[in-house]
Amino acid sequence: MLAEITEVYDASAALCYSADSLNRCGAKRKDVEWVTTLKASSDARFLIQANDSFICNQEQVNEPFIHSNEMLKRLNIADALTIFLGIDEGDGDRPYFGVRYAADPETLDKALEKLGPYAAYGLRGIAMKSAASKRVLGMMAQAASVGRWHVTHQMCSKCGEPTEVVEAGYRRDCPSCSGQHFPRTDPAVIMIITHGDKFLLGRPYHLMENVYTTLAGFVEPGETFEDAVRREVFEEAGIKVGKVEYVASQPWPFPSNIMIGFHGEALTTDLNIDYEEMEDCQWFSKEETLKMLRGEAESGLFCPPDISIAHYLIKKYTEEQ
Ligand SMILES: [Zn+2]
Repeated sequence: MLAEITEVYDASAALCYSADSLNRCGAKRKDVEWVTTLKASSDARFLIQANDSFICNQEQVNEPFIHSNEMLKRLNIADALTIFLGIDEGDGDRPYFGVRYAADPETLDKALEKLGPYAAYGLRGIAMKSAASKRVLGMMAQAASVGRWHVTHQMCSKCGEPTEVVEAGYRRDCPSCSGQHFPRTDPAVIMIITHGDKFLLGRPYHLMENVYTTLAGFVEPGETFEDAVRREVFEEAGIKVGKVEYVASQPWPFPSNIMIGFHGEALTTDLNIDYEEMEDCQWFSKEETLKMLRGEAESGLFCPPDISIAHYLIKKYTEEQ
Protein backbone atom coordinates (compact mmCIF):
# COMPACT_ATOMS: atom_id res chain seq x y z
CA MET A 1 0.00 0.00 0.00
CA LEU A 2 2.65 2.52 1.06
CA ALA A 3 4.90 1.42 -1.78
CA GLU A 4 2.10 2.10 -4.27
CA ILE A 5 1.58 5.60 -2.88
CA THR A 6 5.27 6.51 -3.02
CA GLU A 7 5.52 5.19 -6.58
CA VAL A 8 2.83 7.69 -7.57
CA TYR A 9 3.93 10.76 -5.62
CA ASP A 10 7.67 10.58 -4.87
CA ALA A 11 10.47 11.05 -7.37
CA SER A 12 12.66 9.19 -4.85
CA ALA A 13 10.78 5.94 -5.51
CA ALA A 14 12.53 5.60 -8.87
CA LEU A 15 16.01 5.57 -7.33
CA CYS A 16 18.21 2.57 -6.58
CA TYR A 17 18.00 1.27 -2.95
CA SER A 18 14.72 3.21 -2.52
CA ALA A 19 12.07 0.54 -3.18
CA ASP A 20 10.22 -0.10 0.08
CA SER A 21 7.89 -2.90 -1.00
CA LEU A 22 7.37 -4.55 2.39
CA ASN A 23 5.08 -3.74 5.29
CA ARG A 24 7.64 -3.35 8.11
CA CYS A 25 4.93 -4.02 10.76
CA GLY A 26 6.49 -1.57 13.22
CA ALA A 27 4.06 -2.43 16.05
CA LYS A 28 3.78 -6.20 15.50
CA ARG A 29 7.52 -6.83 15.22
CA LYS A 30 7.80 -6.13 18.97
CA ASP A 31 5.98 -9.45 19.52
CA VAL A 32 8.82 -11.98 19.87
CA GLU A 33 6.53 -15.00 19.47
CA TRP A 34 4.99 -13.62 16.26
CA VAL A 35 8.41 -12.94 14.73
CA THR A 36 9.81 -16.34 15.82
CA THR A 37 6.86 -18.16 14.22
CA LEU A 38 7.30 -16.20 10.99
CA LYS A 39 11.01 -16.95 10.89
CA ALA A 40 10.41 -20.70 11.32
CA SER A 41 7.70 -20.88 8.62
CA SER A 42 8.47 -22.47 5.27
CA ASP A 43 7.23 -19.25 3.59
CA ALA A 44 10.00 -17.17 5.19
CA ARG A 45 12.72 -15.80 2.93
CA PHE A 46 16.17 -14.53 3.91
CA LEU A 47 18.77 -12.15 2.53
CA ILE A 48 21.98 -13.48 3.98
CA GLN A 49 25.03 -11.30 4.58
CA ALA A 50 28.40 -12.80 5.45
CA ASN A 51 30.30 -9.76 6.74
CA ASP A 52 29.38 -7.03 4.20
CA SER A 53 28.64 -9.42 1.30
CA PHE A 54 25.37 -10.99 0.22
CA ILE A 55 25.24 -14.72 -0.49
CA CYS A 56 24.13 -15.46 -4.04
CA ASN A 57 22.83 -18.68 -5.58
CA GLN A 58 24.05 -18.39 -9.16
CA GLU A 59 21.55 -20.96 -10.42
CA GLN A 60 18.57 -19.18 -8.90
CA VAL A 61 18.24 -16.82 -11.82
CA ASN A 62 15.21 -14.75 -10.83
CA GLU A 63 16.06 -13.97 -7.23
CA PRO A 64 19.62 -15.21 -6.61
CA PHE A 65 20.00 -13.34 -3.30
CA ILE A 66 16.84 -14.68 -1.62
CA HIS A 67 16.99 -17.95 0.33
CA SER A 68 14.68 -20.26 2.25
CA ASN A 69 15.47 -21.22 5.87
CA GLU A 70 17.01 -24.43 4.58
CA MET A 71 20.03 -22.30 3.59
CA LEU A 72 20.45 -21.07 7.19
CA LYS A 73 20.74 -24.71 8.30
CA ARG A 74 23.19 -25.55 5.53
CA LEU A 75 25.42 -22.61 6.47
CA ASN A 76 24.97 -23.45 10.17
CA ILE A 77 23.77 -19.90 10.91
CA ALA A 78 20.25 -20.55 12.22
CA ASP A 79 21.17 -18.58 15.37
CA ALA A 80 22.85 -15.65 13.60
CA LEU A 81 21.63 -12.06 13.97
CA THR A 82 18.25 -11.86 12.24
CA ILE A 83 16.48 -8.63 11.30
CA PHE A 84 12.80 -8.67 10.38
CA LEU A 85 12.48 -6.70 7.13
CA GLY A 86 8.70 -6.95 6.71
CA ILE A 87 5.95 -8.89 4.99
CA ASP A 88 5.14 -8.81 1.29
CA GLU A 89 1.40 -8.19 1.14
CA GLY A 90 1.47 -8.73 -2.62
CA ASP A 91 2.77 -12.28 -2.13
CA GLY A 92 0.49 -13.86 0.47
CA ASP A 93 2.09 -11.95 3.38
CA ARG A 94 5.41 -13.70 2.85
CA PRO A 95 7.87 -12.67 5.60
CA TYR A 96 11.38 -11.43 4.73
CA PHE A 97 14.40 -11.32 7.01
CA GLY A 98 17.96 -10.08 6.81
CA VAL A 99 20.56 -12.38 8.37
CA ARG A 100 24.06 -11.18 9.10
CA TYR A 101 27.02 -13.12 10.44
CA ALA A 102 30.78 -12.75 10.69
CA ALA A 103 32.82 -15.12 8.55
CA ASP A 104 36.49 -15.55 7.80
CA PRO A 105 36.67 -14.84 4.01
CA GLU A 106 38.71 -17.95 3.14
CA THR A 107 36.56 -20.27 5.24
CA LEU A 108 33.46 -18.69 3.70
CA ASP A 109 34.68 -19.29 0.13
CA LYS A 110 35.33 -22.95 0.92
CA ALA A 111 31.95 -23.36 2.64
CA LEU A 112 30.13 -21.82 -0.33
CA GLU A 113 32.06 -23.96 -2.82
CA LYS A 114 30.95 -27.05 -0.92
CA LEU A 115 27.31 -25.95 -1.04
CA GLY A 116 27.27 -25.60 -4.82
CA PRO A 117 26.85 -22.61 -7.11
CA TYR A 118 27.12 -19.99 -4.37
CA ALA A 119 29.25 -16.86 -4.08
CA ALA A 120 29.34 -13.67 -2.01
CA TYR A 121 28.94 -10.21 -3.58
CA GLY A 122 29.10 -6.62 -2.30
CA LEU A 123 25.93 -4.55 -2.53
CA ARG A 124 27.42 -1.78 -4.66
CA GLY A 125 28.57 -4.30 -7.28
CA ILE A 126 25.15 -5.99 -7.28
CA ALA A 127 23.48 -2.62 -7.95
CA MET A 128 26.00 -1.59 -10.63
CA LYS A 129 25.42 -4.83 -12.52
CA SER A 130 21.62 -4.71 -11.99
CA ALA A 131 22.03 -8.24 -10.63
CA ALA A 132 19.00 -7.86 -8.36
CA SER A 133 15.59 -6.29 -8.98
CA LYS A 134 14.79 -2.81 -7.67
CA ARG A 135 12.51 -4.44 -5.09
CA VAL A 136 15.27 -6.73 -3.80
CA LEU A 137 17.86 -3.91 -3.82
CA GLY A 138 15.52 -1.97 -1.51
CA MET A 139 15.39 -4.92 0.89
CA MET A 140 19.16 -5.33 0.67
CA ALA A 141 19.68 -1.67 1.54
CA GLN A 142 17.46 -2.09 4.60
CA ALA A 143 19.19 -5.31 5.70
CA ALA A 144 22.69 -3.92 5.08
CA SER A 145 22.11 -0.67 6.98
CA VAL A 146 20.50 -2.25 10.05
CA GLY A 147 22.95 -5.18 10.00
CA ARG A 148 25.98 -2.90 9.89
CA TRP A 149 24.60 -0.87 12.79
CA HIS A 150 24.47 -4.02 14.94
CA VAL A 151 28.12 -4.79 14.14
CA THR A 152 29.27 -1.37 15.33
CA HIS A 153 26.88 -0.97 18.29
CA GLN A 154 27.46 -4.07 20.37
CA MET A 155 28.32 -2.02 23.45
CA CYS A 156 26.19 0.58 25.25
CA SER A 157 27.27 4.13 24.40
CA LYS A 158 26.11 5.27 27.86
CA CYS A 159 27.86 2.79 30.15
CA GLY A 160 30.03 0.56 27.93
CA GLU A 161 28.34 -2.76 28.81
CA PRO A 162 27.17 -5.27 26.15
CA THR A 163 23.69 -4.64 24.70
CA GLU A 164 20.97 -7.08 23.56
CA VAL A 165 18.93 -7.19 20.34
CA VAL A 166 15.20 -6.47 20.74
CA GLU A 167 12.25 -5.50 18.50
CA ALA A 168 13.28 -7.93 15.74
CA GLY A 169 16.55 -6.03 15.18
CA TYR A 170 15.34 -2.42 15.45
CA ARG A 171 16.58 -1.69 18.95
CA ARG A 172 19.38 -2.71 21.29
CA ASP A 173 18.80 -2.54 25.03
CA CYS A 174 21.38 -2.29 27.76
CA PRO A 175 20.55 -4.60 30.73
CA SER A 176 23.05 -2.71 32.87
CA CYS A 177 21.76 0.90 32.63
CA SER A 178 18.39 0.35 30.84
CA GLY A 179 19.61 2.47 27.92
CA GLN A 180 17.76 1.96 24.61
CA HIS A 181 19.58 2.34 21.29
CA PHE A 182 18.03 2.65 17.82
CA PRO A 183 19.52 2.09 14.35
CA ARG A 184 20.99 5.35 13.09
CA THR A 185 20.67 7.03 9.72
CA ASP A 186 23.06 9.89 8.99
CA PRO A 187 21.63 12.67 6.80
CA ALA A 188 23.77 14.06 4.01
CA VAL A 189 22.71 16.75 1.55
CA ILE A 190 23.52 16.40 -2.15
CA MET A 191 22.83 19.26 -4.52
CA ILE A 192 22.73 20.29 -8.12
CA ILE A 193 23.83 23.93 -8.18
CA THR A 194 22.97 26.00 -11.20
CA HIS A 195 23.61 29.55 -12.39
CA GLY A 196 21.51 30.20 -15.45
CA ASP A 197 22.59 27.53 -17.93
CA LYS A 198 25.73 26.58 -16.00
CA PHE A 199 26.10 23.57 -13.69
CA LEU A 200 28.53 23.33 -10.78
CA LEU A 201 30.18 19.90 -10.53
CA GLY A 202 33.21 18.75 -8.60
CA ARG A 203 35.63 15.93 -7.89
CA PRO A 204 36.17 14.75 -4.33
CA TYR A 205 39.52 12.93 -4.07
CA HIS A 206 38.11 9.40 -3.74
CA LEU A 207 36.09 9.59 -6.96
CA MET A 208 36.85 7.43 -10.01
CA GLU A 209 39.07 9.15 -12.58
CA ASN A 210 37.38 11.60 -14.99
CA VAL A 211 34.09 11.64 -13.06
CA TYR A 212 32.53 14.97 -12.05
CA THR A 213 29.56 14.91 -9.70
CA THR A 214 27.22 17.04 -7.61
CA LEU A 215 28.61 18.47 -4.37
CA ALA A 216 27.51 16.78 -1.14
CA GLY A 217 28.19 16.77 2.58
CA PHE A 218 26.91 15.72 5.98
CA VAL A 219 24.33 17.76 7.83
CA GLU A 220 25.77 19.09 11.09
CA PRO A 221 23.89 19.16 14.41
CA GLY A 222 21.74 22.28 14.78
CA GLU A 223 21.55 22.92 11.04
CA THR A 224 18.67 22.83 8.54
CA PHE A 225 19.10 20.87 5.31
CA GLU A 226 18.93 24.12 3.34
CA ASP A 227 21.68 25.71 5.42
CA ALA A 228 23.80 22.56 5.05
CA VAL A 229 23.50 22.93 1.25
CA ARG A 230 24.61 26.57 1.40
CA ARG A 231 27.45 25.87 3.85
CA GLU A 232 28.85 22.87 1.94
CA VAL A 233 28.83 24.66 -1.42
CA PHE A 234 30.50 27.73 0.06
CA GLU A 235 33.10 25.62 1.92
CA GLU A 236 33.96 23.37 -1.03
CA ALA A 237 33.67 25.78 -3.96
CA GLY A 238 33.40 29.32 -2.53
CA ILE A 239 30.00 29.78 -4.21
CA LYS A 240 27.14 31.56 -2.43
CA VAL A 241 23.76 29.85 -2.88
CA GLY A 242 20.36 31.58 -2.55
CA LYS A 243 17.18 29.64 -3.21
CA VAL A 244 17.31 25.96 -2.22
CA GLU A 245 14.54 23.47 -3.06
CA TYR A 246 14.08 19.82 -2.10
CA VAL A 247 13.96 17.35 -5.02
CA ALA A 248 14.23 13.72 -3.82
CA SER A 249 16.02 11.45 -1.34
CA GLN A 250 17.86 8.14 -1.53
CA PRO A 251 18.90 5.67 1.17
CA TRP A 252 22.65 5.12 0.76
CA PRO A 253 23.53 2.01 2.76
CA PHE A 254 27.32 2.53 2.92
CA PRO A 255 26.92 2.18 5.80
CA SER A 256 23.71 4.02 6.72
CA ASN A 257 23.24 7.42 5.13
CA ILE A 258 20.21 9.09 3.66
CA MET A 259 21.09 11.37 0.75
CA ILE A 260 18.70 14.33 0.63
CA GLY A 261 18.74 15.88 -2.84
CA PHE A 262 18.31 19.59 -3.55
CA HIS A 263 18.49 22.13 -6.32
CA GLY A 264 20.26 25.36 -5.37
CA GLU A 265 20.53 28.60 -7.32
CA ALA A 266 23.98 30.16 -7.16
CA LEU A 267 24.24 33.89 -6.41
CA THR A 268 27.95 34.06 -7.35
CA THR A 269 30.21 32.24 -9.85
CA ASP A 270 33.82 32.88 -8.79
CA LEU A 271 35.28 29.59 -7.56
CA ASN A 272 37.39 29.36 -4.42
CA ILE A 273 38.05 25.62 -4.10
CA ASP A 274 38.93 23.93 -0.83
CA TYR A 275 41.73 21.65 -2.06
CA GLU A 276 41.79 19.75 1.23
CA GLU A 277 38.32 18.41 0.37
CA MET A 278 38.08 18.69 -3.41
CA GLU A 279 40.46 17.84 -6.24
CA ASP A 280 38.53 20.21 -8.52
CA CYS A 281 35.27 22.08 -9.10
CA GLN A 282 34.11 23.54 -12.40
CA TRP A 283 31.16 25.23 -14.04
CA PHE A 284 29.97 23.22 -17.04
CA SER A 285 27.52 24.30 -19.74
CA LYS A 286 24.23 22.43 -19.94
CA GLU A 287 25.26 20.93 -23.29
CA GLU A 288 28.60 19.67 -21.93
CA THR A 289 26.94 18.32 -18.75
CA LEU A 290 24.40 16.37 -20.81
CA LYS A 291 27.19 14.86 -22.90
CA MET A 292 29.08 13.89 -19.74
CA LEU A 293 25.93 12.28 -18.34
CA ARG A 294 25.49 10.24 -21.52
CA GLY A 295 29.20 9.33 -21.77
CA GLU A 296 29.55 11.31 -25.01
CA ALA A 297 31.83 14.19 -23.92
CA GLU A 298 34.89 14.72 -26.12
CA SER A 299 36.80 15.70 -22.96
CA GLY A 300 36.47 12.10 -21.72
CA LEU A 301 34.77 13.39 -18.56
CA PHE A 302 31.56 11.80 -17.35
CA CYS A 303 28.98 11.89 -14.57
CA PRO A 304 28.13 9.14 -12.00
CA PRO A 305 26.07 6.09 -13.08
CA ASP A 306 22.31 5.91 -12.71
CA ILE A 307 22.34 4.04 -9.40
CA SER A 308 23.06 7.37 -7.66
CA ILE A 309 20.88 10.35 -6.85
CA ALA A 310 23.70 12.52 -8.25
CA HIS A 311 22.89 11.08 -11.70
CA TYR A 312 19.19 11.69 -11.13
CA LEU A 313 19.69 15.34 -10.11
CA ILE A 314 21.99 16.09 -13.05
CA LYS A 315 19.62 14.35 -15.47
CA LYS A 316 16.56 16.14 -14.15
CA TYR A 317 18.04 19.61 -14.40
CA THR A 318 19.82 19.15 -17.74
CA GLU A 319 17.02 17.32 -19.55
CA GLU A 320 13.91 18.85 -18.06
CA GLN A 321 14.73 22.50 -17.48
ZN1 LIG B 1 24.26 0.89 29.37
